[in-house]
Amino acid sequence: MNCEDAKYKCQLLIDDELNEEEIAPLMGHLESCYKCRDEYIGLLKLRRKLNGIKGPAPDEEWFENLSRNKGRRFAGGAGFILMVVSWLLLAGYALYSLFSDSGEGLFIKIVVAAAVVSVIVLFITALTDRIKESKTDKYKGVIK
Ligand SMILES: [Zn+2]
Repeated sequence: MNCEDAKYKCQLLIDDELNEEEIAPLMGHLESCYKCRDEYIGLLKLRRKLNGIKGPAPDEEWFENLSRNKGRRFAGGAGFILMVVSWLLLAGYALYSLFSDSGEGLFIKIVVAAAVVSVIVLFITALTDRIKESKTDKYKGVIK
């Protein structure tokens, strides 16, 4: 076996792709040739280093934080919707009871109606702004 052959077979041995019957002749060459032995040792060290490197996979804590954030965002969204719906129902009820009940004066009715309508308009503009913002949000999907 010459040195060029041995170097090639060293690589195969490191990669665990060398045939069983070729291992003994290679070892014989490595025992007698210090150049190939050094090369083999260098390859072995490199392989050990590569095996020791872990991939850039995130750890368990990262995944846990991600799901926790999702839950919190869902709760925040549900709370916002619930608040809007309850406010609209309350405003509707206030308007209905005010106009079905004739005990109050017309001035009071107009003032309360204006207040309720202004709150509803504010809610609707805030809601549409929020929807518009979420559509063009360049940080969408970024964990806060
Ligand atoms: Zn050699």
